[in-house]
Amino acid sequence: MTLESTGSIARVREVTDRARAAGRRVGFVPTMGYLHAGHASLVAAARAHDDLVVVSIFVNPLQFAPGEDLDAYPRDLERDLAVCAEEGADLVFAPPVEEMYPRPPSTTVTVSGVSEPLEGRSRPTHFAGVATVVAKLFAIVGPCRAYFGEKDWQQLRVVQTMAADLSLPVEVVGCPIVREPDGLALSSRNVYLSDEERAQAPVLHRALRHGAELVAGGETDPGRVEAAMAAVIGEAPLATLDYVAAVQADSLTADGPLHGEVRLLGAVRFGRARLIDNVGVTAPA
Ligand code: AMP
Repeated sequence: MTLESTGSIARVREVTDRARAAGRRVGFVPTMGYLHAGHASLVAAARAHDDLVVVSIFVNPLQFAPGEDLDAYPRDLERDLAVCAEEGADLVFAPPVEEMYPRPPSTTVTVSGVSEPLEGRSRPTHFAGVATVVAKLFAIVGPCRAYFGEKDWQQLRVVQTMAADLSLPVEVVGCPIVREPDGLALSSRNVYLSDEERAQAPVLHRALRHGAELVAGGETDPGRVEAAMAAVIGEAPLATLDYVAAVQADSLTADGPLHGEVRLLGAVRFGRARLIDNVGVTAPA
């Protein structure tokens, strides 16, 4: 099947309904476009499992606060369509803002708990914007498997929680982070980095890996792990630390000694670019 691109909600419903009626599995990859190898890996995961692969490309205004980079966010639909074709996607849904929000929505989705720490503290309206658009996209695409990157670990937990709480007919699948050879996680926002900033940007992954080594070595005190990670970030003169955290992977909190599945997460600003990343580790029993 050749790649079809549409901006119409009705058309996405028609294609996905028809596929399911014929017994075909639908895979869905939501994105904000400016696709890179991280996005491509999600499309490949869908392609490997599902029969009809749908990719959405929508820079969702609801998840940007005033003063954030909504207008500057990089866009290149033509190149994105080429990436989707290359990865074997069947349908790209790239709606104009008016198709998704003909008027400002009165109904929004907020997910308490997992939305609140870390990114939620730095960007208080962000996850309500994400949960609302993802709920809407799930309603448009219908029953499917939906693929999300672990790159945005907290977002993945927010979407999983929402899908479970609301009994949405969607299986949410987390996929591994794709990185540059020096460890920097691929991100559409990496284009904001100057050459000098780009050279220092891998410090975030280095700090998180250092934290993971401490946890793997038996350190259970989140404060000590966080201080050690912050010290690594401090070695990069162009980096401004937003947060680094050592928390339980599921709840994104740490109420006592770290145990079981642990996630180390961080956000660092380099000039115009705000980078986030995370690493998982199992604490020794
Ligand atoms: P975005 O376009 O940034 O909203 O991302 C769309 C999807 O791609 C989200 O599920 C992200 O977590 C995922 N993603 C972004 N960067 C990466 C990466 N480096 N590796 C794996 N998945 C990624």
